[in-house]
Order: sequence, then C-alpha cells, then structure tokens
Amino acid sequence: MKNLKLAAHSSSEKTIIPVGDLEIGRDFVVIAGPCSIESREQTMTTAAAVKASGADMLRGGAFKPRTSPYSFQGLGLEGLKLLYEAGRENGLPIITEVIDPRDVTWVAEFSDILQIGTRNMQNFSLLKEVGMTSRPVLLKRGMYSTLEEWLNCAEYILSEGNPNVILCERGIRTFEQYTRNTLDLSAVPALKELTHLPVIIDPTHSTGRLSLIEPMSLASVAAGADGLIVEVHHDPEKALCDADQALTPVLFDNLMRRIRPLQAFMQNLPSCAMAC
Ligand code: PEP
Ligand code: MN
Repeated sequence: MKNLKLAAHSSSEKTIIPVGDLEIGRDFVVIAGPCSIESREQTMTTAAAVKASGADMLRGGAFKPRTSPYSFQGLGLEGLKLLYEAGRENGLPIITEVIDPRDVTWVAEFSDILQIGTRNMQNFSLLKEVGMTSRPVLLKRGMYSTLEEWLNCAEYILSEGNPNVILCERGIRTFEQYTRNTLDLSAVPALKELTHLPVIIDPTHSTGRLSLIEPMSLASVAAGADGLIVEVHHDPEKALCDADQALTPVLFDNLMRRIRPLQAFMQNLPSCAMAC
C-alpha cells in the first residue's frame, strides 16, 4: 500500500505496547466492561466481576457518540473518574473513548489507552491530537472503511510521533441485517501481512448478538488476533446503552473459561507455512 511509511509491515518489527504489566502485541489481552459508565454501583460491580474472571483491562465510555442526540451521552468527567477509581481498585488499566480533540489532553491524564471509535476513524484533527500524546491509542475501524483507509488513519497518529497504535476490527456495514455489523475476521491475517501493529477484535459491536459473541471470540483467537474488547454489564436489562449485546458477568466468565485454553493451544501451534 502506497503512502504507508510508518504503519507498513516492512517499516518495523512487530509493535509491542506496554500498558501496566501487559505487553499488547505479545500477551493476548482481554478488555472488558460496560458500554458506558452509568453509575458508581454499575462501574464498581462490573469492574470487580470482570477482574474476577480474568480480564486484563477495564473499558467504559464516559463520552458516548450516540446516533440520536436524545440518547444518553455519557457522564463525561464524572464517568471518567469512576472508571479510573474502578480500575485502580481492581488493579486494571483502563481504556475510554475520546470524541473531541479539546478533551484529549486531560482524558489522557486518566486513561491508560485512548479509544477512537468507528465514527471518528477519519476525524483527522482528533487523530493528530492523540498522535501528539504519549498514550497508546486503540483505533477502531470505520464501519464503511477499507483496510487501506484504516491504515492511513493509523499513519496519521504514527506520523505525529505516537508509535503505540492498536487496531480494532469492530465490524463493517454490509447488506446483512441479522447481525448489527459484519465481522471481517479476515482483516486479522490480512493486517498481519500489511502492518506491524497489534490487532484486536470487538465481537460485541460487530455481531450485536449475545449468542454470537463467544463463537466469534474463539474464532478471533484462532485467526491470530492479539486480543478482544467485550462489553459486560452487571445488569444488562438496565443498561443505558447497548443493552442487548452486553454479557452478564456469568456469560463473560464462561467466555473466559473457553478463551484461555484456546489461546494457550494457539501459542503452542507450530507457526504457519506462509510467512505470517
Ligand atoms: C464502543 O466501544 O463503546 C463503541 C461506541 O464502539 P464503536 O465505535 O465500535 O461503535
Ligand atoms: Mn457499545
């Protein structure tokens, strides 16, 4: 792909991103937590549950990019403080979405990773702003974007001086209506050919269906993903955002019990014949 000076596979060794004790790109990371931070009780309960099941990081949106302006927009600073506190209390690094370039500097003071959501993948001023911080950035794939467009967005961040970019496949829009989006799992091995950046999968937003989250998580491990980001809510029926797709703590625990052995198995699999 032309124009990729820093994101291209050939330009660097595989990128390993240290976050707390984790090394993203080397360790398989599971990031879990609610879609949005709603209250102290919800955040603390969910954080303790995902920690107990072996999650590596805690997610939660304080700023929500909602399709309707009348939907819950997130608690902002108050939400970020709750997420930070829950992370500290449970020994989990945190990740949250930033949607406005003006918020990047102060959100970066609290959050271990900055998330750029699908709707902002090509918000170039936001990309430049996060590129100027020293926080790792999780860049979600735009729901209408090609791999080349996505990698060019990673290039925006890298070219501002921030080498720590994680790519997250979260499904793309197709004509299929049964699933919320279509999970492009082939993006994982394709990206491994194209870039040295770690690639993780979001089985929650890509399927939007509880019953599909576990099979697609297992398939992501088999496809060679570097991790997962999954939505979990202590009481999904009461969730203010994405209630239908949130795993309960019990379902998340079941998922983790199946993910870890597969991941250990994959680690011992002889490397593939093609240079991947
Ligand atoms: C999210 O992770 O909460 C989110 C809004 O995801 P996406 O940008 O992939 O829709
Ligand atoms: Mn969500």
